[in-house]
Amino acid sequence: MREADWSKVLGWPGYRVYRHEIDEPGKRLKLWVRRKRGNRKLICSGCGRKLAEAYDSYEREVRDLPCFEFRTTVVVELYRVRCPDCGVKTEKVPQLPSKAPFSKRFEEAVGLACESAAVRRVARQFGLASSTVRAIDVRYLSRWSEGRRKPALRHMGVDEIYLGKKQKFLTVVSNLETGEPLWFGGERKKETLDEFFEKHLSAFQRSAIRAACVDMWEPFRQSLEQWVPECRIVYDKFHILQHASQAVDEVRRAEFFRKGGAARDLVRGKRWLLLTSWLNLDRGKRRQLSALFALNRRILKAYLLKESLSRLWDYSYETAMLRYLQKWIDQLRWQRLKPMEKLAGMLLGHLEGILNYCRTKVPMGVVEAVNGNIKALLRRGRGYRDMNYLLLKAQRLAATKTEFVAFQKAA
Ligand SMILES: [Zn+2]
Repeated sequence: MREADWSKVLGWPGYRVYRHEIDEPGKRLKLWVRRKRGNRKLICSGCGRKLAEAYDSYEREVRDLPCFEFRTTVVVELYRVRCPDCGVKTEKVPQLPSKAPFSKRFEEAVGLACESAAVRRVARQFGLASSTVRAIDVRYLSRWSEGRRKPALRHMGVDEIYLGKKQKFLTVVSNLETGEPLWFGGERKKETLDEFFEKHLSAFQRSAIRAACVDMWEPFRQSLEQWVPECRIVYDKFHILQHASQAVDEVRRAEFFRKGGAARDLVRGKRWLLLTSWLNLDRGKRRQLSALFALNRRILKAYLLKESLSRLWDYSYETAMLRYLQKWIDQLRWQRLKPMEKLAGMLLGHLEGILNYCRTKVPMGVVEAVNGNIKALLRRGRGYRDMNYLLLKAQRLAATKTEFVAFQKAA
């Protein structure tokens, strides 16, 4: 094969192959390339200025896509320029986006493979170290992120993820309209969310935020009030129902300790059943729960209250929603269900944000879906120590919608 043919096979725009070497037993191909004669415009890698004169030249070796079964290395002749602004700098070459020894399209192939497989598997497939694959993936995702238009933030979600005893909480800010996470913050204090508003949004961007879907968590409310006073706070349905589930569980535990002997066995291990909605239980599970309810009216009552609370969001008029909530609270009278009474107090204390759902229809469940996707990534990746990597990964996931399992479940 002639050098001109190798240039065609390689297909680097503006470059030609002037030498090649084939190591047949080792299945390796090495190509030496330099600029084509007409390609003389040099670009400063510091500032992007176009320059005509080269200062000096050097060689760089990068791994490119394989040619059939041959692992391919390209040795590129590169120039340095003397830029009036930056001094002596290397030229910018589109095929070589970073200082790492890989071509752009090689990094893209690795990044793409990382979208559907674990890092360890990709590392094996390409014969690279896991740390190298991760670094390539971060660059691949960063380039994608920098190159795309970011939609305006009008409906935001704020949620937290529990990471474990050591790292505690991660605050997640998301765009509810696109279903993608925008920012991660350590901890879940007022200062955490303050940082997002202060450092990552302009005053104009802040003024565009119409609604925020949050948990009934005071520090977040305070931060929202300070930075986006015009924004409507809408308390998330799923969080409120989580509190309701916790209340049911507290009733169950209290009953477990109140009753002795045989009745205890009936209450034991029913936690999961009680937290599941009736609609999602099969016949056997329903029978188990019914047996429990027959013996314990209090648990039955608490369960029914939790189930009926979820219908609060069926109402789209404030007065109707308020009436339903009032009736729901009325049912608590004489029931002696302390955890449920506490929940009712909490709901009354956050009434405005609950009723705001009727004024601003934010998509409920998106916060949960974003959360679910991040948790799935964490489970699969086993320890994203680099939170920026995790964020990019979750954003890409949301943008390509390759794995919106939780999203479908929540809708
Ligand atoms: Zn420059």
